[in-house]
Amino acid sequence: MSTVLAAVIPAPGLPAEVREYPEPELEQDSALLDVELSEVCGTDVHLRAGRLAGVPYPLIPGHVTAGRLEKIRGALRDVHGRALREGDRVTFLDVHRTCNACWYCLVAKASTRCPSRKVYGITYGADDGLAGGWAEKLYLKPGTRVIPLDDATDARAFMAGGCALPTAIHAVERAGIVLGDVVLVLGTGPVGLSAIALARMSGALRVLAIGAPALRVEAARAMGADDVLDLERATPEERHAWVLERTEGRGADVTIEAAGAPEAAVQAMRFTRDAGRVVIVGQYTDHGDVPFNPHADLNRKHLDVRGSWGSDYSHFHRAVRIMADTERSRPWTRLALESYGLAAANQALDDVAAGKVIKALIDPGAEAP
Ligand SMILES: [Zn+2]
Ligand SMILES: [Zn+2]
Repeated sequence: MSTVLAAVIPAPGLPAEVREYPEPELEQDSALLDVELSEVCGTDVHLRAGRLAGVPYPLIPGHVTAGRLEKIRGALRDVHGRALREGDRVTFLDVHRTCNACWYCLVAKASTRCPSRKVYGITYGADDGLAGGWAEKLYLKPGTRVIPLDDATDARAFMAGGCALPTAIHAVERAGIVLGDVVLVLGTGPVGLSAIALARMSGALRVLAIGAPALRVEAARAMGADDVLDLERATPEERHAWVLERTEGRGADVTIEAAGAPEAAVQAMRFTRDAGRVVIVGQYTDHGDVPFNPHADLNRKHLDVRGSWGSDYSHFHRAVRIMADTERSRPWTRLALESYGLAAANQALDDVAAGKVIKALIDPGAEAP
């Protein structure tokens, strides 16, 4: 029987290790994906640290992943009803299952809050099959939404957007950007960087960004930000003044918080003009409470503040289409990508945690160092 190597986080707080698994039996209408590239995002750092609830360890991380269909049993169809073939390069929505039966799915139409939601590499563990991208092969369970990648889109080009892109598409959709808006993005990690390019695409006249370290400040410019402030060189008061100077003293029309520090959510409100809009997308894990003044920061400002959680098929589909468009995907081609083999997964996590890399990819085919 063939075996498959995978990088596994055995338990919360433990480093990843390479383990061997048997190649899975395919159920009807499932497939085996030969993984070309997966990625390391901030979520994976939190997964190793054990900061996410409801994660079934041992875990093969890696949610957004691209590869080739090696074996298909039965039929696998895309959203147009077209059959996929062995050898096709594809990606898939990392959310395998929302129930389409609960109150959130059917009444609120907010499937990202479905309590039965199952995500490859996060809420499917190693005992659920090869359900994470940090592996030579991944098992595409029946019902997975598989999306073919354009011939022109190689795995690396697609993964430059990675999981951050659909997350940012959802946030920008929630932000309701209007032609001519000045958009402020707080945080220049992958989600913030994607949000900068998407804000431009959505009609923002100017995009301002505040982030760190220097490497990411440069990346923010490359993604299309008109003006970027290095977070480490300015106090919160100086950051506020910097935004006011660039918005005729009012504040941004729209602010997208993709920073992660709880204080950033309050700053997002304070740096936005009265009657403006704020989207909070950076608080994916619980970093604690933060005080704010409900009168001055929210009510009197007549603000619209929205959270944005995860992404659904519509965001993922649009992410694939944007990356297949030469013109629209150009900003992402400017991002520096760093590849790591399975045995170097901990190094990749350390580098992401330290902000040393813009984007870390896991390449299961890479030689061990
Ligand atoms: Zn549901
Ligand atoms: Zn992610």
